[in-house]
Amino acid sequence: MAKKQQEEQPVEVPLPPVTLIPMGAPDKQQDQSNLLAAKQSPAFPIANGLLAHCLNRRGERLMLDYAAEGVAVRFEIDGVWMNGDPLDRQSGDAALAVFKKVTNLNVQDRRSRQDGKFGVEFAGGKYVASFTSQGVKTGERVVITFKPKKPKFLRIEELGMRDKMRAKLKEQIDADAGFIIVSAPVGGGLTTTWNLTLETADRLMRDFVSAEDKDNKEDEVINVGPKYYDRAAGQSPADVLPQMILKEPDVLVVPELTNAETVQILCEQVNKYNKLAFTKVNAKEAAEALLKVFAYKGPAAELAKSVTAVLNVRLIRRLCDQCKQSFQPPPQLLQKLGIPAGRVQVLFQEYKPPPPEELIDEKGNPIVLPICQKCNGIGYAGRIGLFELLIIDDQIRAALTNSPNLETIKRVAKAAGHRSIQEEGILQVAQGVTSINELQRVLKQ
Ligand SMILES: [Zn+2]
Repeated sequence: MAKKQQEEQPVEVPLPPVTLIPMGAPDKQQDQSNLLAAKQSPAFPIANGLLAHCLNRRGERLMLDYAAEGVAVRFEIDGVWMNGDPLDRQSGDAALAVFKKVTNLNVQDRRSRQDGKFGVEFAGGKYVASFTSQGVKTGERVVITFKPKKPKFLRIEELGMRDKMRAKLKEQIDADAGFIIVSAPVGGGLTTTWNLTLETADRLMRDFVSAEDKDNKEDEVINVGPKYYDRAAGQSPADVLPQMILKEPDVLVVPELTNAETVQILCEQVNKYNKLAFTKVNAKEAAEALLKVFAYKGPAAELAKSVTAVLNVRLIRRLCDQCKQSFQPPPQLLQKLGIPAGRVQVLFQEYKPPPPEELIDEKGNPIVLPICQKCNGIGYAGRIGLFELLIIDDQIRAALTNSPNLETIKRVAKAAGHRSIQEEGILQVAQGVTSINELQRVLKQ
């Protein structure tokens, strides 16, 4: 019987090896001697194993929480924290010393905040790992964030934007004049969507310029020339825009509006000189993004006149297509979701194992089911964006000037046939891309 059980255990596939690249020392020699010292630690394989487990599960972040009783290990996968196997304190401490060594940080210091970087190579991928450790009440917290050296090239449709919406957005972006706002919740894909929106624009035929904070430089987008202002010294985009405008660019990109003066300059450029402007803001929905831009207290009527479109995104996990389960939705559920009867026969949900009483074979032995190789049993793999594209028409402009509040703007938009993030989400549920559970999780954030 023992033998049979052994056979049914899921086979642990050994993970590919990890290569650590030391960084942070004043010179290469010191980096190399740091690596040598780290390699001599008996915990070197444990540290590497943590990285391998995280990256193998497509983790973007690894968190280690040190407390008296042990070390909790968590991986952030597709924006959701998952528990890993905990470590005993001794192994955890030794692994942490390895990370601090290869980042040239102080191994003894367990209280102050320490930041550093090291390189990781794993399964053909190269990453820069940003390391932060900080003493907390219960002990110490460590966060390692992995950034691929060559981010996968994405187009906005690969992020899940429907063709029709993409065409509508492109029309706005290709217009001579207008003001386009890109938005997403904090930590929810704003940078990616912003970059993809600018990538969608034809930057070869028009001159793009961008006014950026020198301490907060944007990712490089080809053919968008940045000019920097010094926010820490009290400057704003309004300090560099006049000079930039002298060169008569076609498109003004201002990643952060910061003040009324900046809003005023952009409105004038759009309304008077037929320029196109882009900005971005953290918001949960398009109407909120619009109000946040208005909250800078720029000239309201001018702003209402200039704004043409707001794009909002919410990231949602994709059901794993290897293990998702179909079910027949009861009519009440379809009604609740607003899906017309007869439109869908089945919906999908994340994999749920059968109840334990069914996991016994005819001889009474427990059955161990293999774990899905694609999603490691999470039920989801990868993310897409739920997009909301609000085109500003005269009704919304009137609402913005007369009663600029969330409810009014949403009501006016809905009356004009605008589809909310929630409705976009239900569309993805109906198509089996994601689940009702996941949509509810995302909408609650
Ligand atoms: Zn799966």
